[in-house]
Amino acid sequence: MAERQILTQGDPALEKVCRPVVNFDSRLHTLLDDMKETLLKANGVGLAAPQVGILRRVVVVMDKEDHMIELVNPEIIQQEGRQEGLEGCLSVPGMYGNVTRPNLVTIRAQDRDGGFFETTGEEIVARCFCHELEHLDGHLFVERTEKLYSLEELEALERQQSSEDKSGENK
Ligand code: ZN
Repeated sequence: MAERQILTQGDPALEKVCRPVVNFDSRLHTLLDDMKETLLKANGVGLAAPQVGILRRVVVVMDKEDHMIELVNPEIIQQEGRQEGLEGCLSVPGMYGNVTRPNLVTIRAQDRDGGFFETTGEEIVARCFCHELEHLDGHLFVERTEKLYSLEELEALERQQSSEDKSGENK
């Protein structure tokens, strides 16, 4: 396994529509292993192949038990509910924005040997499924948010909110 370089916003590979995987061979297995190692090293929750410069429909997502789900040629087949929350991306380092997503998402995908399966994610996992699948069509979360915040700006907002909460308690 080898760690791969994560491309950042502005790289043309992040704006391309990725092709389906047709060969479930050792090259795919190496790609998946490398993507998992890269995601772990980067402390992320999901990674799509175009983020490491490979224009194929391959994604890895961390589930709630910290297991990595490998998704080849994934498609959303069902979505329910709605969640609002902050989202970030390893390709847009240090920036976060509010993005509305479905709260429950079911994916149909193939595993590394080509077998079809379905998997359902809630909350952060559902958010991650949507985020990573959009990478496969050349889209970044920044297109879905009105404002991007740095970590410092988010911390300042949190401090402001907690002091407002406290002044509310005193009344
Ligand atoms: Zn991303």
